Amino acid sequence: MGVNGQATSRRDLRTGVPVWLRNGYGRTPARPLTEDLVADVAIIGGGVSGALIADAILQTGRSIAVFDRRGLVKGSTPASTALLQFEIDQPLTLLGKRIGKAKAARAWWRSASAVNVLRGRIEDLGLRCGFSERNTAYLPGNMLNLADLRREAEERAAIGLRSRFIGRDELAKLTTVEAPGAIWSSGSAELDPAKLVRGLWRSAAERGARLHAPVDITDVDAGRRGVTLGTSEGRTVRAKALILATGYELAPMLRPRGYSIISTWAIATKRQKRKLWPSRCLIWQAADPYLYLRTTPDGRVIAGGEDEEFADSDRRDALIGRKTSRIEKKLGTLLPGLDPEAEFAWAGAFGQSSTGLPAIGPLPGAKGVYAVLGYGGNGITFSVIAAQMLQRAILGLPDPDAELFALD
Ligand SMILES: Cc1cc2nc3c(=O)[nH]c(=O)nc-3n(C[C@H](O)[C@H](O)[C@H](O)COP(=O)(O)OP(=O)(O)OC[C@H]3O[C@@H](n4cnc5c(N)ncnc54)[C@H](O)[C@@H]3O)c2cc1C
Repeated sequence: MGVNGQATSRRDLRTGVPVWLRNGYGRTPARPLTEDLVADVAIIGGGVSGALIADAILQTGRSIAVFDRRGLVKGSTPASTALLQFEIDQPLTLLGKRIGKAKAARAWWRSASAVNVLRGRIEDLGLRCGFSERNTAYLPGNMLNLADLRREAEERAAIGLRSRFIGRDELAKLTTVEAPGAIWSSGSAELDPAKLVRGLWRSAAERGARLHAPVDITDVDAGRRGVTLGTSEGRTVRAKALILATGYELAPMLRPRGYSIISTWAIATKRQKRKLWPSRCLIWQAADPYLYLRTTPDGRVIAGGEDEEFADSDRRDALIGRKTSRIEKKLGTLLPGLDPEAEFAWAGAFGQSSTGLPAIGPLPGAKGVYAVLGYGGNGITFSVIAAQMLQRAILGLPDPDAELFALD
């Protein structure tokens, strides 16, 4: 069966200047598309998902062509606060109740391995993107109280994840945060998402990838003998396979159940004059809405959260001032030794799923079309999983977690 339709509808993805763009967008190796084109694999999307998938497909020896309507690294990716957490938004204990313990354990482990895979690839390619391994402190909140956190830590440790419960004194020593306890985990990281993805695109271009932007893909026609794409400028692209890595601009042909687009806000402070917390760990709360924090190599604090369940970008942008004040206030309360004043403030669309898990894989009913919807606070980690899974799919190899993350 073929699929015929509009590729994606445009969305206002973000507003304000994310800290990573303080010196502008930086250069990427993309060119406009001036002729029709044929490739083994076409990828729509120049963000972190498209870049990691491109890297993985190039490893198979296939030719690839990539398109982005804005430009490479100009979508949601540079708005990311880029905490690379293996910890999924849905705690292991709660996810286990929803999808079963065995599946929840697999999802958590796949996420933990993805952080390692990305670290390895950054090293292989010599990408300078501020990658640092980080511990995380997960604080009690309205989702999990202290007793729940203890159970969560035990359940994680029982499947071999590097998490343990710590009490008030140890938490204060590591973070200066005053709370009765937390889960302390190893195996997460942080980076600069714009530098990472620009580096991935430079590497892909050197290895022969054809990178075209700005190019708006307006039509997708998936038939038995391959996929044909139409652009707004009237060019045609033919490929054996198509990967939709279009972030929060969903193709209408994708109707994933339980997924929704919401709004989120983030700030970055000035460089702190006083010392940051000793461990420089990632800090987040078992709360809804939650607050999360990290530091930058030049001594700022990035904080975000305050998510709201609406997608309207005018409403989102009108709230930037108020949300910035709230995040500053929460940050100041949690870490009174810091200057919480924002130097950068931005807002963006954000995707969430009812399970906190991504959707990755072949599009039912459309031969040769694959998609990634890496939602939640682990979007980047999920993009790494997507790259592994879609590389296998293109090679015709099975993936052990294909069913777990399947598109409906
Ligand atoms: C404020 C904020 C904080 C976040 N914090 C974190 C975090 O701490 N950790 C984490 O892991 N994740 C985080 N995320 C999520 C993470 O940023 C996203 O999961 C990730 O950036 C999505 O990347 P992507 O490549 O899928 O999408 P994008 O970067 O949006 O790339 C998709 C691209 O597709 C292009 N496109 C769409 N349709 C078409 C078309 N028809 N033709 C041509 N081009 C098209 C768009 O122009 C866009 O550039 C955060 C997100 C936000 C907004």
